[in-house]
Amino acid sequence: MTWQQRYESSLMNTFGTPKLLLARGEGCHVWDSDGREYVDFLGGIAVNSLGHAHPAVVAAVTTQLQTLGHVSNLFTSEPQIALAERLLALLGADGRVFVSNSGAEANEAAFKLTRRTGRTHVVAAEGGFHGRTMGALALTSKAAYREPFEPLPGTVTFVPYGDAAALAAAVTDETAAVLLEPVQGEAGVRVPPDGYLSAARRVCDDHGALLWLDEVQTGIGRTGTWFAHQLASGQGVTPDIMTLAKGLGGGFPIGVTIGVGATGALFEPGNHGTTFGGNPVACAAALAVLETIEKDGLLDSASALGKTLRDGLPDPRVVEIRGEGLMIGLELSVDAPRTVSAALDQGFVINATGPSTIRLLPPLVLTDADATALIDAWPRILDAAERSS
Ligand SMILES: *Cc1c(COP(=O)(O)O)cnc(C)c1O
Repeated sequence: MTWQQRYESSLMNTFGTPKLLLARGEGCHVWDSDGREYVDFLGGIAVNSLGHAHPAVVAAVTTQLQTLGHVSNLFTSEPQIALAERLLALLGADGRVFVSNSGAEANEAAFKLTRRTGRTHVVAAEGGFHGRTMGALALTSKAAYREPFEPLPGTVTFVPYGDAAALAAAVTDETAAVLLEPVQGEAGVRVPPDGYLSAARRVCDDHGALLWLDEVQTGIGRTGTWFAHQLASGQGVTPDIMTLAKGLGGGFPIGVTIGVGATGALFEPGNHGTTFGGNPVACAAALAVLETIEKDGLLDSASALGKTLRDGLPDPRVVEIRGEGLMIGLELSVDAPRTVSAALDQGFVINATGPSTIRLLPPLVLTDADATALIDAWPRILDAAERSS
């Protein structure tokens, strides 16, 4: 039996059959079960912030697991407290942290936190993606994801992303929270206009609503700043709630919900919980990621390499290039899924978020040589995609 047959007869068909069985990774490179090498411009969907098998993550996880692997939240551990302190310091705010295992869980906790305001209405953005649990799905606009599972909890108003006036019109004194991604990821890397998040902050303040920023994909250096709300769209903005996950653990599952100021005190004992969340191994992995980003100057390098890619990938078949740092979206005049297949054939892992949209989310440890390799191969990849259609 091939691995595809084994996969199809043993795993639920939620993802379709994967394109490759990957066997090994190192830095920005992965190898499949036939020993073929690929440069990874997806990084496990913005998760492998330090690439694959980074020595700092391997050492942190190994040492922690050998020392203390799990304690439940009836107890705590030094890595859990140190991580919470470190994240609050990076955000530059007082507050409280809840640690879970994924982006959806981080948002689920945040959604419950907003209920503790006594209000239930949430305003979220069209094209936004917040995860697949019932709560996170209720806040996600895409009909194809939602409709098979309705009714979903809550009263949610969706507004066009990037339109401050539409947002202002939707928020009332009954609104518990406004939920936004600082750059939309699953929508194909949509960067809002400068000042959009600052406008959202003002609207929330006017109505006593919480500003909740989902930085699950954008956070932890992805856009060249620790958090994407520190870019021009939200300079000076501090959210009331921020959720993190993907890149934080460097490949180890972790999710984080931060409540800033009084918002962090809205949960009382018994309001929420988790068995695995905050376990010392995941927290040690996250601490190693944060330390390495700082020590190796990966924020600056994400900005610089992002510019290299955005400058190097224009082509007559590229209609638009969007993005910040190493979060890049390309609108093509050729079929994006065929472009993904052509790229794989030529040794590059890239991603399509739609029929004409390519997304790149390489590890922050991307090298100049790897960026140049994609730029050099790009016209040939587009040629092959065109020929195959
Ligand atoms: C991926 C993602 C999520 C969901 O994270 P999971 O770990 O898949 O549950 C939530 N919000 C955003 C912005 C994401 O990109």
